[in-house]
Amino acid sequence: MATEYFDVIIIGAGLSGIGAACHLKKDCPQKTFAILEGRQAIGGTWDLFRYPGIRSDSDMFTLGYEFKPWTKRKGIADGADIRDYIREAATEHQIEPHIRFSQTVKAARYDSQKARWTLDVKQQDGTVKQYQCHFLMSCTGYYSYEEGFTPEFAGKEEFSGDVIHPQQWPENYDYENKKVVVIGSGATAVTLVPAMTDKAAHVTMLQRSPSYVITVPQQDVMVTALRKLLPEKWAYRIIRGRNVSITLGIYRFCKGFPQAARKFLQWTVKKQLPRGFDLSHFKPKYNPWDERLCAVPDGDMFKAIQQGKASVVTDHIDRFNEKGILLKSGKQLEADTIITATGLKVQMLGNMDVSIDGQPFVPNQSMSYRGVMFENLPNMAMVFGYTNASWTLKADLISRFVCRLLNHMEATGKQQVVPINDNPNIEKRPFIDMQSGYISRIREQLPKQGSIRPWKLYQNYFLDMSLLRLASLDDPALEYSSPESAPHHASEQQPSQSMP
Ligand SMILES: Cc1cc2nc3c(=O)[nH]c(=O)nc-3n(C[C@H](O)[C@H](O)[C@H](O)COP(=O)(O)OP(=O)(O)OC[C@H]3O[C@@H](n4cnc5c(N)ncnc54)[C@H](O)[C@@H]3O)c2cc1C
Repeated sequence: MATEYFDVIIIGAGLSGIGAACHLKKDCPQKTFAILEGRQAIGGTWDLFRYPGIRSDSDMFTLGYEFKPWTKRKGIADGADIRDYIREAATEHQIEPHIRFSQTVKAARYDSQKARWTLDVKQQDGTVKQYQCHFLMSCTGYYSYEEGFTPEFAGKEEFSGDVIHPQQWPENYDYENKKVVVIGSGATAVTLVPAMTDKAAHVTMLQRSPSYVITVPQQDVMVTALRKLLPEKWAYRIIRGRNVSITLGIYRFCKGFPQAARKFLQWTVKKQLPRGFDLSHFKPKYNPWDERLCAVPDGDMFKAIQQGKASVVTDHIDRFNEKGILLKSGKQLEADTIITATGLKVQMLGNMDVSIDGQPFVPNQSMSYRGVMFENLPNMAMVFGYTNASWTLKADLISRFVCRLLNHMEATGKQQVVPINDNPNIEKRPFIDMQSGYISRIREQLPKQGSIRPWKLYQNYFLDMSLLRLASLDDPALEYSSPESAPHHASEQQPSQSMP
């Protein structure tokens, strides 16, 4: 079987993979590369999720790429517009010819004698094809595309209506005049609830415990004004900088003054709810930003409650029954459709089996190097965005760092780079410092971060910007080498060379 070789292989054609490819094309034009995508479309998350109202909950001035201004009116954008934006970026940078669709990477094996990765890639017909590369970038997101997370609900088979997980939304699903119950209180639930009030008879959000919900403007007056005064690129940069500062400021305030933040958030919610509404539905037990804040554009969820089209129930599910859901309190919730907005199945590295010289790589035994590479894992980076701000802010920084690293290796004639920690006193900490259910469920499988640089992760764009853009690549924590049997310069190979 012929094996194709590229200098760099990017896995995933979502927001991160397309962004990485654009950076690579610009900063490392001499490198050959391919994107291997398991699905048949560009866009990842923004192509997969099709439930009513699907939208970002962070603004597109920070969720957009640093190199491509977001030009639409709405800052909180619809899923379809984000999908178009990613496709547009791919077209503008001539990325499409580099994408191989229906290529699911199952295993990645690194050979340190040759400084080379070999990938086992499942084809649409079930056969396996091999690819090889010098450097691997995992842009596979953080959850399984196969199915979402649904807890076991007793009596599910007795329910006479439809049970739908938002990740597998049936095309053109008709919910006109239906009584809808949305189970969950996260970002997806607070999006679905107001969106479905357009046709549903009533929508109930059933939550086990409340989340913090914050109203954000869908459109921004400053954006309109700046766009009139300044060239698009400048306006984008200014708004982006301002929004990063606001998000970081809110995060810092919440972490530093949790009681004051709690009071403030609850005050903003109270103002938007009808008189006499039971506010305990919006009083979480945890502190703000121990879990992600749920954003609602222009308070659409509160408006739906005001209009009597939506309601909130805080209770535990006893079981499903024919007519809907029986709650632990003894109350019956009637439903024609139940939506299980109960989360994602988190997974790392696209569920690939990764090994080095025949030894399996176990992510939870490894620390992240600057949030870019893994301890003891050569020639590989993983793009993983911020959890307290827009994903792409960090994704852009990681991709640029990788390009700098590749150029540094090229310039110094090195074939291999591996982050090594020789400080036994570093304390290993969780990779993601949040209590959200989907993170807690898999915390033990996630990699770690360290207590000090360069192993510590900062949820701070401005700090990362200086650390990742300016950090010396002659870092003692990076071990460079050139194995004798490695080809002298990987990039001297012909583009997409087939090897017997
Ligand atoms: C409903 C929803 C809303 C969100 N809203 C926001 C938001 O407002 N702001 C924010 O910052 N973040 C948000 N996120 C997080 C979001 O996932 C990121 O913003 C961003 O889309 C991640 O892009 P990505 O390319 O890294 O991953 P993804 O979008 O998940 O794309 C990964 C791609 O890799 C492919 N892939 C995975 N494994 C393999 C494999 N083994 N082989 C081949 N291909 C593979 C997948 O098919 C997919 O195309 C949201 C997530 C969800 C689910």
